[in-house]
Amino acid sequence: MPRRTAATLATSGEVLRLIRSGEAVTRADLGRVTGLSRPAVQLRVGELIERGLVVERTDAPSTGGRPPVRLEFNAAGGVVLVAALGASRTRVAVCDLAGRELAGRDFAIDVEQGPDVVLPLLLDTWDDLLGERPREDVKGVGMGVPATVEFARGRTESVRVMASWTGVLIPPIVRERFPVPVLVDNDVNALAIGEHRGVYPDLDDLMFVKVSTRIGAGVIAGGGILRGALGAAGEIGHIPVRDGGGVLCRCGNVDCVDSVASGTALLRELRAAGKDVKTIADVTALVRAGDAETMATVREAGRRIGEVLAGAVNILNPSVVVLGGDVAEAFGPLVSSIREVVYRRSTALATRRLRIEPSRLGAGAGISGCAVMVLDSVLSPEAVDESLALGTP
Ligand SMILES: [Zn+2]
Repeated sequence: MPRRTAATLATSGEVLRLIRSGEAVTRADLGRVTGLSRPAVQLRVGELIERGLVVERTDAPSTGGRPPVRLEFNAAGGVVLVAALGASRTRVAVCDLAGRELAGRDFAIDVEQGPDVVLPLLLDTWDDLLGERPREDVKGVGMGVPATVEFARGRTESVRVMASWTGVLIPPIVRERFPVPVLVDNDVNALAIGEHRGVYPDLDDLMFVKVSTRIGAGVIAGGGILRGALGAAGEIGHIPVRDGGGVLCRCGNVDCVDSVASGTALLRELRAAGKDVKTIADVTALVRAGDAETMATVREAGRRIGEVLAGAVNILNPSVVVLGGDVAEAFGPLVSSIREVVYRRSTALATRRLRIEPSRLGAGAGISGCAVMVLDSVLSPEAVDESLALGTP
């Protein structure tokens, strides 16, 4: 790397990034990588140690000579609060600065009860989970919600979908209790970020498709989440299928894949065919029992999801498509239909190395994705430099 000029001197925030990523683990490394003088490295490292963001470790002495002091990112130097809200299941947790869960709790709440019920419950639970820990330790909040989110403002957008949440600005409500940066994204983006970082950190292009009560996707493109202009990227649930039979979708259009192939649609179709099914578990039982009509309905749903995914694969050319959500997890026949259609209908180049894999982290990806989202933001070089300049902890 060329030595930097005064105009591009590495800041303390940049030094923290190098230590956090493991690119530099000693002061000598930092000098070499950044081109900073020894006193300049010393100054920045001292600042980061004082803030509790970096700690020094001395390895056991090797044969002869003084061992170099290693610099480590101090994951115990603070916490982030995270919540992964699902349509029916929600997990709330406190994580350290490496994104490891320190304490967490699951709830079966219906998010349709609205923000007035759900947000106070989240805030009280975080307070509970924090216990005696000083509130200054809280560095940020990351949330995934089952709605389209205007990301920059943390504003839920979905009209007629999670109606009681429409237009809610979540960050100011959370900041009344925890005055720190609050990031809100849709639940499937959080799953995509979690699965990418946790399972496929070396792949730059990944699509996570959640098939559950609803259908949605989160797209990692070029190593980062693809949000689009306002945050609506990846909403594949409302792409129409051919020959859907004219089903009116809750978004107002007809034959959206969500309205003909989601868990909700499966239950509706099977009930119309006279099956006694109340939950996805009832459908699973019929599939296990080899009920031909149920199998056919599940396969047809898979074909319809595959049709929409084939188009998405042609546009995005991901290395891996991860299928998650309780419906995808429960039904082998659904997943095989999706694979079959995607491989048949996408272009040869887009599918040459394409893998279609089940989610490895399951619902846990939601919590880790929310943690990664907020940590990447509050520990970014810019955010760290700003907080150092302001003198805030
Ligand atoms: Zn729709």
